[in-house]
Amino acid sequence: MKRDFVPEHLHVAEFAKAGGQLSGDNPLAEFKRLAAEAVESVEDRQVHWEAEGEEREETGGRAEPWIHLRAGATLPLTCQRCLTPVQTPIEVDRWFRFAADEESAAALDEELEDDVLVASRDFDLLELIEDELLMEVPITPRHEVCPQDLPLSVQDADFDSSEKERVNPFAALAKLRSDKAE
Ligand SMILES: [Zn+2]
Repeated sequence: MKRDFVPEHLHVAEFAKAGGQLSGDNPLAEFKRLAAEAVESVEDRQVHWEAEGEEREETGGRAEPWIHLRAGATLPLTCQRCLTPVQTPIEVDRWFRFAADEESAAALDEELEDDVLVASRDFDLLELIEDELLMEVPITPRHEVCPQDLPLSVQDADFDSSEKERVNPFAALAKLRSDKAE
């Protein structure tokens, strides 16, 4: 029997048992919390994702659902060096283990390093995708190479060597003031 799985209302145990596969390209704008991080319009941008179910046998012989999730998007963030937008790829590639209920999920969570979720019959996969991508948003996004020349004081690497050649900023300011005064 072939079932259709809906990402917003996933029956986790059945998806895993069937070795189900889902994938999609959803507009980034629909992931409201993620889109809120963007500093430019996210129209026409997509979140690409793939999910794969797998049933694994627990030590006790009980079947346990797992889901392998991969997702990615490119988010325009503010470069912390030059303060212009930087297109930042954000990716997730992770296995999730599902427990039968809240209680066993909490117990497993303490015991293991894995991410343990509750195997709902109405699991919102898109929400998990958004949660996971949000966690990957860097705190200090930066261009590998910033697009424009920077003021000397911001260029850490060149700062020392150029120190000697720098005009004393106060002298420059004083000159500016006296020019204006004329
Ligand atoms: Zn930059």
